Amino acid sequence: MNKIEHLGIAVKDLKESNLLFEKLLGAAHYKTEEVASEGVNTSFFKVGPNKIELLEATKPDSPIAKFIEKKGEGIHHIAFEVTDIKAEIARLKGEGFTVLNEEPKKGADNKWVAFLHPKTTNGVLIELCQEME
Ligand code: ZN
Repeated sequence: MNKIEHLGIAVKDLKESNLLFEKLLGAAHYKTEEVASEGVNTSFFKVGPNKIELLEATKPDSPIAKFIEKKGEGIHHIAFEVTDIKAEIARLKGEGFTVLNEEPKKGADNKWVAFLHPKTTNGVLIELCQEME
């Protein structure tokens, strides 16, 4: 894995949280994007070389809605940038991790993504992401 690409934070209200993080970071978000297949609206902030992704549910059965129901708002996942996501999926499966996406899927911010189940990663949802060509 190359680096932490971003931290994902589950929020109830993206508009309010955009304003909050704008105050916190001293810079506005640089994009918003809906990922309809996941039932989420996202917005992205840059912090030096790092990124923060805010995630808001767009429907009641969205994974973000379920997460907030169970745990409240807060850190939802850590995303690691990888060079070859298919090779990483195979490697991590071989190491005994539970991979939620056998095949990478299209995520926000022009990325191929795959997730690891938190039950095999000390309770932390892990996202692998690879920049699309
Ligand atoms: Zn993410």
